[in-house]
Amino acid sequence: MAQYSHRVDLHIHTTASDGVLTPSEVVHLSLERGLSVIALTDHDTLGGVAEAHRAALGAGLEVIAGVEINSEGERGDLHILGYYVDPENGPLRERLRAMQQARLARAREMVRRLAAMGMSLDWDEVRALAGGEIVGRPHVARALVNRGYAQTTRETFERFIGRDGPAYVPRLRLSPADVIETIIGAGGVPVLAHPVCSGPAAVERVPEFVSYGLRGLEVYYPDHSPEEIEMLLELCRKHDLLVTGGSDFHGPRVEEGAPLGSVYVPPECAERLRKAAGGAETTDRPSPRTNQR
Ligand code: AMP
Ligand code: FE
Ligand code: FE
Ligand code: ZN
Repeated sequence: MAQYSHRVDLHIHTTASDGVLTPSEVVHLSLERGLSVIALTDHDTLGGVAEAHRAALGAGLEVIAGVEINSEGERGDLHILGYYVDPENGPLRERLRAMQQARLARAREMVRRLAAMGMSLDWDEVRALAGGEIVGRPHVARALVNRGYAQTTRETFERFIGRDGPAYVPRLRLSPADVIETIIGAGGVPVLAHPVCSGPAAVERVPEFVSYGLRGLEVYYPDHSPEEIEMLLELCRKHDLLVTGGSDFHGPRVEEGAPLGSVYVPPECAERLRKAAGGAETTDRPSPRTNQR
């Protein structure tokens, strides 16, 4: 457990999207690991935030309302995180609803393609595995494993539903400007997720994203090498951007990725993020913007 004893994790998925732990379970695990600030960043939904807030009540753990929204990039995987967004904001809810609808149609199409390849899945089973409003490839993957078409979800990505797989269908992607402006409009702080994993074009386009209002880069991330972290820190200095980081936790099993709290994120990153969102600093007076949200 010692290796997970960092205090901050700003990139976490729950059952509200494609994670395997419920928001309450994530809160309890975070407390067990000694974390003091976490952000839920489910794909295209804020559906887990209220439950996490309830579970963390009085426990000394800050839970930031966050979301991870897909946007178009060269490789189609530009992800933008929105922190401290207002879950009730109309335009944001509208965008997320459109993403959720598009995800349904897209997952159905993947199931259709898999059926054409001889792997029949029950659509209701996929929906049940998703549990909520977000259907993603991990749910299709789990259905494939349940039916014995593959041993692991990783294998389903390699053979069928990964980007170059025969049953892959891209999902709806809003423009980066739209995503960034929507997050700002909802009172949130937009941050580019795992910039290195989104290809060299993503890093090159940082100045363009800054011109739309991007406020930070996710520097600390499981797949980022020390050299890449240094490069991103330099980019943050150059463009006066916030530094964030997190594990991109999806679940406790190895194939689900990095463990909760396993990435070192300097605690001051969370403080600066809170301040940027207009929130009160722990030892400072509240900023005037707090009242607006
Ligand atoms: P989607 O949002 O439906 O396109 O699915 C993307 C999600 O699938 C990511 O957020 C990860 O949770 C998961 N994922 C991506 N690549 C892999 C992989 N190679 N093996 C297992 N899960 C993956
Ligand atoms: Fe995911
Ligand atoms: Fe992502
Ligand atoms: Zn993520």
